[in-house]
Amino acid sequence: MRVAVIGAGAAGVACARHVAHSDAGHTCVVYEQNGQLGGTWVYDERTGENEYGVPIHTSMYKSLRTNLPKEIMGFPEFPIPKNEESYIPAKDILKLIDDYATHYNVKQHIKFHRRVLRVHPRGGEGGDGGEGGGWEVTVRDVRTGEDATERFDAVMVCNGHYWKPYIPTLAGAESFSGEQLHSHDYRTPLRFRGRRVLVIGAGPSGMDLTLEIASAAEHVIMSHHHKEEISTVFPNNVEQRYDVARLNGDTVEFVDGTSATVDTILYATGFLYDFPFLSEACGVRVEHNHVRPLYKHLIHVDHPTLCFVGLPFYVCAFLLFDLQARFFLRTLEGRVRLPSRQAMLADAERDQEQRRRAGLGPRQAHMLGPMQGDYYDELADFAGLPRVPPVMAALHNESSSRFLEDLVHYRSDIYRIVDDSTFLKVK
Ligand code: FAD
Repeated sequence: MRVAVIGAGAAGVACARHVAHSDAGHTCVVYEQNGQLGGTWVYDERTGENEYGVPIHTSMYKSLRTNLPKEIMGFPEFPIPKNEESYIPAKDILKLIDDYATHYNVKQHIKFHRRVLRVHPRGGEGGDGGEGGGWEVTVRDVRTGEDATERFDAVMVCNGHYWKPYIPTLAGAESFSGEQLHSHDYRTPLRFRGRRVLVIGAGPSGMDLTLEIASAAEHVIMSHHHKEEISTVFPNNVEQRYDVARLNGDTVEFVDGTSATVDTILYATGFLYDFPFLSEACGVRVEHNHVRPLYKHLIHVDHPTLCFVGLPFYVCAFLLFDLQARFFLRTLEGRVRLPSRQAMLADAERDQEQRRRAGLGPRQAHMLGPMQGDYYDELADFAGLPRVPPVMAALHNESSSRFLEDLVHYRSDIYRIVDDSTFLKVK
């Protein structure tokens, strides 16, 4: 089969490895809009667009160290080389992805500077019928502006989901005279020197950036909707407030009736899933960051030759990409049979119902976190693949709680994996 992979981040590279090395002898073409592999992990000090008019994809900031220990960030069979630290700089992860691509001879399949413009099912809506089935993929060489359309039997979407900012609409936002930016465009704290900054959001980026900006700014307010103050010890020039009610000139009014004056707002409010290249006939809906209709957060129920690798978050990402890629290939090659359309839809509905019962909102439709171990087991067992060792999810969950407990110091923790179910905290 001819398989197209969209994007050469960690997910795309893992897919390419498995497609290209399958005994079934597929042809693999990876389209990457940039001139380098690695996606999110490529630091670029530019924001906006690159020299070819392609939007800057990466949201990486200069000082970033991983927020998960490296012990759970490698690919299976290709872990990150051992050294002292567990939390390592972004450039080391980029090197890992590059080494992995070299090791598995993936680079020869990547067409760089090719931006996918359109993916369309041959035979139109209802898919893989008429005209012999499969997909038309239209790609632009961003250096020359030339477009070309090629035919594929399957498409693996790996375009990432940390590049399109989600910015909530705040009443009075247009009256604010200072600077407003999203964490996607944050690179270093220098521009915040001496400023009074409001950071909206207390997820991993909001917490990290509050801390970093506080090293340069006069004062930082981190606003969030946690019922209680986050217990991490912030420096003295940081305070926490509830959600923003409205902006009024340079005054921020909070829902608890307090107000403050700021000159810069940083939105650490997360990202949106987006697949701008899918034609309407693909029948993919994204509402409140819930991508549908998918089986196991992965395979399009109505077009099972189309998959989306890497949608789940709060996961051991590279292990997940690998498992999803292999699961999809097994279904594609007929080595495993997918359930009926009805059964796949019912399975997806059960999954969402479980989330609703657990009090999760629609934006958590693809969140795994404490559910990740079960998800890995389901995929592995269904497709007859080796299970992900439970120690991976266990260490992920430990690291997530340490992050909340002690944002300032958790990256000094050092872990070692002892066996498939045990890790050791060395420091
Ligand atoms: P990406 O890395 O985003 O790659 C997608 C690729 O697709 C890009 O190269 C892009 O150029 C390409 N592309 C997009 N659209 C097109 C198109 N139309 N045509 C062609 N190519 C296209 N995860 C962790 O596990 N640990 C961490 O510590 C961690 N820290 C993070 C910190 C930040 C600031 C961010 C933003 C994310 C972090 N993550 C972390 C999550 C990280 O994004 C994932 O680990 C992972 O790298 C995502 O890989 P991906 O391949 O799915 O997407």
